[in-house]
Amino acid sequence: MTASRGSKPLRKRRRYKARFFIIMFGLLIAAGYGLFSAFSTLPDTRTYEDPYARIDSLDELDEKTREAALLFLDIAEDEGLDVTIAETYRTQERQDQLYAKGRTSPGSIVTWTNDSRHTRRNAFDIAKNSPGHEYDDPEFFRKCAEIAKRIGLTAGYYWESNQDMPHFETDIFTRIRYPEGYEKP
Ligand SMILES: [Zn+2]
Repeated sequence: MTASRGSKPLRKRRRYKARFFIIMFGLLIAAGYGLFSAFSTLPDTRTYEDPYARIDSLDELDEKTREAALLFLDIAEDEGLDVTIAETYRTQERQDQLYAKGRTSPGSIVTWTNDSRHTRRNAFDIAKNSPGHEYDDPEFFRKCAEIAKRIGLTAGYYWESNQDMPHFETDIFTRIRYPEGYEKP
């Protein structure tokens, strides 16, 4: 009698404890899902006449990346760097086609991933505006990467494995910084 009376509250406490963890676990899942849907890009509904075409319009980027690209171009121009935008948004079709290059289709490898930020409107590639010499000036890309770093934009130039000199991107943690003398339009 004494033993059973003593063990009952203990069992009850355990049940409460279990319920507490189930509720906490549920809340965690709900919070995770909320964050995921808040930050993940909604499915792209835009369609393109030629999904394999190269797109270089800044208007095809998401708002933050576009803003960063405009600031980047502004500073680059002021520092005498003749930058041109080579590519912005990439359809998944084009990304897959590029990824196949050097792997399952002829040519040499041009991309390291088929899950690129270009397909999420978060990346753009530049080139030196010098026909025939777009990519043969490492110093040009180093200076551009420095500008990117200053304004909070991620530069593929600094990637230790698979350096991607012409590539710039943003993510959910990117906060664009305006240096002195530059203002958000
Ligand atoms: Zn790129």
